[in-house]
Amino acid sequence: MSAGMKWWGWGDPERRVELPETAVSAVRAELGVAADAAGEPVSIGQVSLPDARPLPDAVRSAAGELLDGADDRIRHATGRSYPDLVRLRTGRLDHAPDAVLRPSDAGEVEAVLEACAAGGVAVVPYGGGTSVVGGLEALAGAHSAVVSLELSRLRSVELDARSLTARLGPGLTGPEAEAALGALGATLGHFPQSFEEATIGGFAATRSAGQASSGYGRFDDLVTGLELASPAGRLRTLQIPHTAAGPSLRELVLGSEGTLGVITDVTCRVRPAPPTRVYEGWIAADFEAGREIVRDLAQRHEAPDVLRLSDEEETRVSLELAGTQGFQKRALDAYLSLRRRRGGCLMICGWEGEREDVNRRRGISQARLRLGGAVSLGRSAGNSWFRNRYGGPYLRDELMNLGVLVETLETAHTWSRLDELYRAVGGALRGALGERSIVMCHVSHAYPDGASLYFTFLTAARSGEELDQWRVAKSAACEAIVGAEGTITHHHAVGRDHAPYMRAEVGELGLEALRAVKERLDPAGIMNPGKLLPAD
Ligand SMILES: Cc1cc2nc3c(=O)[nH]c(=O)nc-3n(C[C@H](O)[C@H](O)[C@H](O)COP(=O)(O)OP(=O)(O)OC[C@H]3O[C@@H](n4cnc5c(N)ncnc54)[C@H](O)[C@@H]3O)c2cc1C
Repeated sequence: MSAGMKWWGWGDPERRVELPETAVSAVRAELGVAADAAGEPVSIGQVSLPDARPLPDAVRSAAGELLDGADDRIRHATGRSYPDLVRLRTGRLDHAPDAVLRPSDAGEVEAVLEACAAGGVAVVPYGGGTSVVGGLEALAGAHSAVVSLELSRLRSVELDARSLTARLGPGLTGPEAEAALGALGATLGHFPQSFEEATIGGFAATRSAGQASSGYGRFDDLVTGLELASPAGRLRTLQIPHTAAGPSLRELVLGSEGTLGVITDVTCRVRPAPPTRVYEGWIAADFEAGREIVRDLAQRHEAPDVLRLSDEEETRVSLELAGTQGFQKRALDAYLSLRRRRGGCLMICGWEGEREDVNRRRGISQARLRLGGAVSLGRSAGNSWFRNRYGGPYLRDELMNLGVLVETLETAHTWSRLDELYRAVGGALRGALGERSIVMCHVSHAYPDGASLYFTFLTAARSGEELDQWRVAKSAACEAIVGAEGTITHHHAVGRDHAPYMRAEVGELGLEALRAVKERLDPAGIMNPGKLLPAD
């Protein structure tokens, strides 16, 4: 968590995204949330957490900075999934690190790992604290204590302007990396919704995908080289565009989620900062027609840099939460009926780059969108999405304040089986949550062979039972994903929550191969216990 992140919720503590009164009433009525169900968070002083266990002196002195106050332990105890937020807001933490260590460079990271391996202390690498899969839960495993290893002091930036690559410290947050690169005329182009808080090391450790992944690529596409400090020593890949020298060690480190070691250095491809950005809104006839347009664009290799398609439910709810009621709603309905369209599915298309290139690609996309039956809503709808693209998590805090259970999950499949997956997961969530729930979905990362599906679900939280409600819904969705042979995660990673499904994902031999690598790099098993690999 960055120094200033709201300890019980998302982002800048001073920023609130107000829900319009009409939206509050609509959410309450639709989900059956009582007006007095509001649940404001407890104060940080009221949070109960386990007593800190003693740490060996060698561990205490290995990093330049050690923080062991209750506030720092609380701020590093969780990520930002719904269950994490429930635990924080209600002040019930079952796990917390015994201390937070803040090394200043890769040498100090190595010293910490050596001391922890010798002293039997587990280590949870900590980037921006935005994991939504339990990736930061401070589990000691078989060890006597656990420390959170915060990487925010590793923040170097080195641009190779000729090669268009940048060597970046893992502790840089998205805005810090973009500001530094922007000053040199470059961009990474990686803009996940968690951009404001998440870090370079976290992006690499989780194979993150940004909102502009169709154009710039996922984070793992951008990485050309990296360094990993593991308990067994330093693993380094060359900074080169490509190699045919055997299976890729770079790929092994990407997505390792802190279970093999600490990523201390990441080299990425960058691009010249785009002089032109154009964003537009479109309405597809329905989700199926919209998906066909997305498939067509992806298979022609002509997808806009940002390409999102909401299903009917997400379109309806987004307009409602944005307060698109009354006059605005009537204006939108009138506009659509002029084009013989009622309702439909919202699409956001964004093109970035040199003006000529943007115009050319935009022209192709527009022709395909029209051919697929989509209707343009123009640039104001696109610009409105662009302005609010990091606003969703602030809205989640407001919904939780009202007493709403709100969570997201994602998966991916081939075009041939995407609809089957969409129906299976949607049906499982509705079945688990009951009639008074909202289950909505969008497609935001498209490939020539398939796409990801991103679900958001809401229901009235039952006070004191929120974690059970969440578990039932999450398990139902995960079982449906596994049943349809989709991936358990397209970009949120595995963490603790998805670890039980890794056997279905990679098979028994696959698990054994991953375990063998872990045993070699982390023989004492101190690195992020309980994450990525299932317990048995
Ligand atoms: C509101 C919200 C929106 C989100 N939107 C997106 C999105 O659009 N796209 C997306 O891909 N994800 C998204 N996420 C998930 C999350 O932001 C990503 O997984 C992100 O990459 C995590 O980065 P972080 O720096 O916060 O890592 P953390 O949460 O601190 O850590 C994540 C995992 O990586 C490990 N780790 C962190 N740094 C290192 C390191 N240097 N070396 C080794 N291991 C390390 C941790 O131990 C942990 O297991 C979202 C999360 C939230 C809360």
